Amino acid sequence: MVNDLLWDEFQEAVSQKLIRHRSIIDVWSKFQEAHARISRAIAKSVTNCGCIEIHAAKNQVPPGGDLSLEELRSFMDDHVDGHLCQNCREVIEEEFGRLLFYTVALANIVDINLYDILIKENKKLAALGLYHLS
Ligand SMILES: [Zn+2]
Repeated sequence: MVNDLLWDEFQEAVSQKLIRHRSIIDVWSKFQEAHARISRAIAKSVTNCGCIEIHAAKNQVPPGGDLSLEELRSFMDDHVDGHLCQNCREVIEEEFGRLLFYTVALANIVDINLYDILIKENKKLAALGLYHLS
């Protein structure tokens, strides 16, 4: 399967790239830093650039509880208004790339194949269907 080969190639490339900072301590601290950098990049899109705004409030769902999933979805808001500008999008994409790199690096150290995890999680989602609300 092409996707399987691409993923395995990526995991191997990450493994080859991590020569100097191979310790799990370096990798998991970089992994955590990558998470923080994504949050920071999104925050800067709001507070420095302004291309997106956050307007958060409790989601208001009509009482009764007999809404279809699609009806319920129409009452749920992600609280983000606007769209990322090209510059912010590029910065955030780069940070997600860094997170992906260190996610794979951490998985490599503990001998976990993330493609197998992707397949398992996808099967779980398919099995849960429309009734899984989180
Ligand atoms: Zn922006």
